[in-house]
Formats: sequence, structure tokens, C-alpha cells
Amino acid sequence: MRVMTIVLALALLTGVADAKIKALIVDGQNNHAVWPKSTIMMKQYLEDTGLFEVEVDRTQFTWRAKREESWLPLAKAGETEDLDKPKHDPDFKPSFDKYDVVISNFGNAAADWPVVTQRALEKYMQAGGGFVSVHAADNSFGKWEEYNRMIGLGGWGGRKADVGPYVYYTNEGKLVRDDSPGGCGSHGPQHNIPVTLRVKDHPITKGLPDQWMTAKDECYAKLRGPAENLTILATGKDESGKAPTDRHEPILMVVDYGKGRIFHTTLGHDSYSCEGVDFIITFTRGAEWAATGKVTQEVPKDFPTADNSSSREFALKK
Ligand SMILES: [Zn+2]
Repeated sequence: MRVMTIVLALALLTGVADAKIKALIVDGQNNHAVWPKSTIMMKQYLEDTGLFEVEVDRTQFTWRAKREESWLPLAKAGETEDLDKPKHDPDFKPSFDKYDVVISNFGNAAADWPVVTQRALEKYMQAGGGFVSVHAADNSFGKWEEYNRMIGLGGWGGRKADVGPYVYYTNEGKLVRDDSPGGCGSHGPQHNIPVTLRVKDHPITKGLPDQWMTAKDECYAKLRGPAENLTILATGKDESGKAPTDRHEPILMVVDYGKGRIFHTTLGHDSYSCEGVDFIITFTRGAEWAATGKVTQEVPKDFPTADNSSSREFALKK
């Protein structure tokens, strides 16, 4: 009897251990030509944790896919047609409900999703879904009100002051919501950005150093948005010498939207940015948190420090 109980318990435990988090990366139109490659990089990062199984859903009309076109078929997302301008895809209707987390690798000027797809994402998130916004995904869909609520803060994409306040930290460490007029979205030249952790006990940031240096990337600035239920986990200070502001700008954020969870990273401009160990680790931890509300991944020894960035050269696993 006791043996049977143990066998049953083991079977149950094994079953639980085998149940992977189902992730969907959506892409197809991004002003950043890296996107066909960065989708595969993110897919492999997630799979390398042993926690995720990942699928990709792509618009049939793509934009700026040429530079990295050799990476397109690896997504197994079907035939696509690359065009000179973003074009609306009326058939882009991912089954969000099948997944624990949806990751957006769309970017600035992406054509609007079909209205049914917008409503489907809203419903999925309200009901407790997970969403991850990577780099220029916070440029997309500036007129989509609920999307702006999900990402908390955004830049460019036609966003103006009426989308909501700037939110940032001052040099003195004060969190500010700033309703003053002005543009939305800016950045200086790419460089290694010094990061300051602002929330140390969140599942995504627990165990990370108080400060670190990113790989070469853009420090997004002047982001604005509804910023409802928004927590800034980490900020970056633009030390490029041509910083658009003298603020510490949000780079890692979380948002509660209905019963759903959003992780928002502004990092990931190009492939060398996505090779940053801090990009990789905060991305996979953020995706796990968005999917489950927990993080089970350790912080690796090669995580960057306050003085030195840290990168892993990407090698595709066959
Ligand atoms: Zn960029």
C-alpha cells in the first residue's frame, strides 16, 4: 500500500516536472532588422532554461526581414512575404489562450493587428494571461488604448502627452510621475548602460546585483503612458554623452492588468544587445514570472557587475 502511494506520488511529481510553460513569440513587422534572428535567440534562451516550450506566430506580410532572412524558417511559422512597408494582415489571429505567456517582438510602425486579435489579447490578459514587451514592442500600436495600459509606458508610435505621464527616477533617487508636455520616446547613441535596481525583492530581480552594466544597447528615454499598476524594477542612466534627459529611465518594468501579468524590458536593440547576460537572464526570468507569477531560475555567475558588462556569443543549437 505504502509502495503504491510512493509510486503514485512519484508519477505525479514527474508529471508536474514535465509540464512546461507554453510560450508564444509573435513577430513579423519591426523597424529593427534584427527581428528574425532575435526571435530565434529568445526562443533558444527560453528553451535552454528547460522550463519552456516555444512557438512562433508571424504575420504573413513582414517588414524589414531581409537582413536576417536566413533565420526566418527556423521559427517554423510558415511562408511569409517581405514588403517595403508594414501591411495589415487580416489573418493574423494567434490562439493566445493556448499559451501561458505571449512575447512581442513587433516594433515601431507595425501595422495594426485585426480588431478581433486586439480584443482577444485584451480578454486573454484580463483573464490572467502573461505578456512580455521587448525593446521596440513598446513603440507598437500607439493608438491602441488597452495595449498602452498593458505595457504601462511606451515611446514613439504617434504617442503624445495625452497617453499619460513620463515616469522616471531622479538623480536623487526619487520616483516621479511627470505630466509636463513634451514628446514621447527618445534615446542617445548605443553604449553600455549603467543599471540601478529599484526593487530588490520582486521574483524577477531577487538575487540580482544592485548595479550592473548592460551590453551595448539603447537607453530608452521620455517614455510615457497610463502607468497604471506599474512597478519599475530597474532604471538605466544614459552615459553616452548625448543623453536626451538627465534622468534614470525605466528599463525593466512589471504591470498588473486585470488578472494578467506583464514584463516589459526596453533592452534588446540588436543581436549584440540580446547577447548581454543581463538581457538573457532578466528576459527568461521575466517570461517565467509573467507566465506563472514565480521565478525558479538561479542568477548565473557570469551576470554583469557594476563595472563590467557580460555577454554570451550566440550559437544556434541544431
Ligand atoms: Zn532600438
